[in-house]
Amino acid sequence: SLVVTGATGQLGRLVIDALLADPTVPAESVVAVVRDKAKAAGLAERGVELRIADYSKPETLAGAFEAGDRVLLVSGSEVGQRVAQHTAVIDAAKAAGVAQLAYTGVLGGDEADFDLAAEHKVTERLVLDSGLPYTFLRNGWYTENYTANLAPVLAHGAVVANAGEGRIASASRADYAAAAAAVLAGPADEHLNKAYELSGDTAWSLAEYAAEVAAQSGREITYSNVPAEAHLAILTGAGVPAPFAEILVDVDRAVEHGALARQTGDLARLIGRPTTPIAVTIKEALAGS
Ligand code: NDP
Repeated sequence: SLVVTGATGQLGRLVIDALLADPTVPAESVVAVVRDKAKAAGLAERGVELRIADYSKPETLAGAFEAGDRVLLVSGSEVGQRVAQHTAVIDAAKAAGVAQLAYTGVLGGDEADFDLAAEHKVTERLVLDSGLPYTFLRNGWYTENYTANLAPVLAHGAVVANAGEGRIASASRADYAAAAAAVLAGPADEHLNKAYELSGDTAWSLAEYAAEVAAQSGREITYSNVPAEAHLAILTGAGVPAPFAEILVDVDRAVEHGALARQTGDLARLIGRPTTPIAVTIKEALAGS
């Protein structure tokens, strides 16, 4: 089976969509591992098998995988708990004898030197140590990380960050999902024991992002580059919890020194088409806001 964890999340749902849209993939071979069965009702209706498991409860993972499964581990969203959670998933995959374990890490892999990357680096090491055939999907930034936050940008006429003129080679979530589906459904051996550095075809700066939002919305929107401490104060002042605000400020530091600008072409190659331009994702977000 082709097994997707985190299948009720934003990325996981798109991976399932991509698998079901692939004419070479029978719907009955697609399995969604979810922790909340009710949230997955729509997936079951589409013929996807559900397996219920929680990364934080190792005993629930015993039935999540079967020998020969090709598994996508979508990294968890609970920062700080992910090493223990991923360890439990990898142990279960190893015990079951899966044929492939694909993992959504972060662009740069070992070289990514920002806080959010730490758990991904440890997870990749655990996957290597497991001896399982692996595929590392080192995802760059989702364009939606920015476009999901358009309301305050439009309200204040400003994109506020501490990223300087750093560039971001983002792509849409659907692009990364298509790549994950391709490595699960593609020829069995083609993607084993490989690390893909996945990012968008075009790297952009936040000044360019602000200009594109301005052009599409007809509003005046500027890029306000502020010192890290000032950005932290603005975020916490707006109600962002301090630990998360610190992560966002650290990400901007990484952006400033180019950590999210890396471009290898791996993503476009895997999906067989160009990645989605930010103008398209901005347009979709403005239409929905
Ligand atoms: P979501 O938060 O939408 O999805 C996370 C998924 O992980 C959900 O399905 C969630 O389940 C599942 N999950 C979390 N904790 C557990 C657990 N304890 N047991 C079982 N399942 C769990 O994030 P996205 O889909 O947008 O992104 C996928 C992952 O990519 C994130 O989890 C994060 O690791 C990483 N990420 C990458 C970004 C990037 O720009 N490259 C940006 C943000 C995150 P449920 O549906 O029940 O909540």
